[in-house]
Amino acid sequence: QINNNNFTIFLFFLCNQTAGTQENFVFLSHDPAMAAALLRMSRSSSAQLTAVSRAFTSRNFSASSTSSSAFNPEPDIARSPSSSFLSRNSPLPQDPKDRNVQWVFLGCPGVGKGTYASRLSNLLGVPHIATGDLVREELNSTGPLASQLKEIVNQGKLVSDEIIINLLSKRLEAGEAKGESGFILDGFPRTIRQAEILEGVTEIDLVVNLQLREEALLAKCLGRRICSQCGGNYNIACIDIKGDNGEPGIYMAPLPAPPQCADKLIQRADDTEEVVKARLQIYNEMSRPLEEFYRSRGKLLEFSLPGGIPESWPKLLEALNLEDHEVKRSAAA
Ligand code: ADP
Repeated sequence: QINNNNFTIFLFFLCNQTAGTQENFVFLSHDPAMAAALLRMSRSSSAQLTAVSRAFTSRNFSASSTSSSAFNPEPDIARSPSSSFLSRNSPLPQDPKDRNVQWVFLGCPGVGKGTYASRLSNLLGVPHIATGDLVREELNSTGPLASQLKEIVNQGKLVSDEIIINLLSKRLEAGEAKGESGFILDGFPRTIRQAEILEGVTEIDLVVNLQLREEALLAKCLGRRICSQCGGNYNIACIDIKGDNGEPGIYMAPLPAPPQCADKLIQRADDTEEVVKARLQIYNEMSRPLEEFYRSRGKLLEFSLPGGIPESWPKLLEALNLEDHEVKRSAAA
């Protein structure tokens, strides 16, 4: 480790003992804390870290100026510094830490991570990056990974960390080139290992854990329809679950496609009953532990969806201490 003012250079000689080969890695960091995190993580995932850290650091990552206590959604979400974001229109003012929000959405398949993450991304002016979308783009391409990915995804299994991090890094780098900053991640991290890798390279401000009764999840996945032309997401399921044992009931109206999309609707190949059940099981095994991971770091915001978008969106904004002028306008109309 060589400290040179605020510029720390790490040179790693990592021996791959099984293969008997030696690989050298250079990590550049403007901050010793990040460099230390990289060092810590290098043991588990050296090559992946190289890729993802390059992508995150090129986004003006500055661990030294951030602190996990600066944004503590629990228990006092009202102190969120993002509360002022929406009282003005774009350009988005930067938060006190001199960068845009870096949030993660957790939640079971079908819970609506994509829906709410994408609404918040529009509102906050940060990109919504869904690793599931990146995977689907790749499997629909003619690239070398396509057939391999199709097989994994269509069984509801997780894609390897290496592939995911590669796709994510490329997406972050492309965004950076377009001037993007901040992000709302949806579908990443999905395992403790991915969360540790992420923690090693950047600061996550807030993790929103969306929750919905299990009975509704399967129905929502099976009812999901996507416009093959514009990519719009719709749902034909009408969910009406009565309350029992003190649990409130839940009603979610269908989300019909507009006429211009109605004859172009397709279903995701992994939205079959068998595959959704496999995805739910894998979520419980591999991703559920992330709740405790982020809860113990004081970053988890639990949000139980009270119903469909009309009921849930204003409540979510309230929980995040955000305002949406559109919501206010339509309520006033
Ligand atoms: P879901 O509706 O199950 O949350 P996504 O659209 O997020 O689905 O992801 C679709 C598929 O892409 C997953 O079932 C998995 O195969 C793959 N995938 C997406 N993100 C990850 C990730 N972080 N790690 C591993 N595999 C992933």
